[in-house]
Amino acid sequence: MCQRRPEVAADPYGRCESCAKAGRRAYQFRLRLVGSALQVAAGELSPRALNKAAGPALLAGSTRPSVRPHLLGSSCELVMAGRRLETIRAAPALSSRLDQVLEALRAGARRTDASW
Ligand SMILES: [Zn+2]
Repeated sequence: MCQRRPEVAADPYGRCESCAKAGRRAYQFRLRLVGSALQVAAGELSPRALNKAAGPALLAGSTRPSVRPHLLGSSCELVMAGRRLETIRAAPALSSRLDQVLEALRAGARRTDASW
């Protein structure tokens, strides 16, 4: 996830030692364009789980997404270290819409549904 090596052999997420120790996980979301705004279309967390995991941090909102080339199409990811939101990453195709990426995640985190 941080592309550092070596991974911890037994770690289910293929993390390096410091990521495993920090409880770092990345959760990917796929966005879609609705009118002129972005909306979450699918994700590794449900709206309810997103709200629980990162709702307050997203809505407080000082975390600006950064562009990362390993993300494809219209995807973005939240990197959590335990219960803390560390970073938001977005695919290069979204580089001109980073504010909208954040808005889409915020709107998702305000929902309480079990699925997108
Ligand atoms: Zn790492």
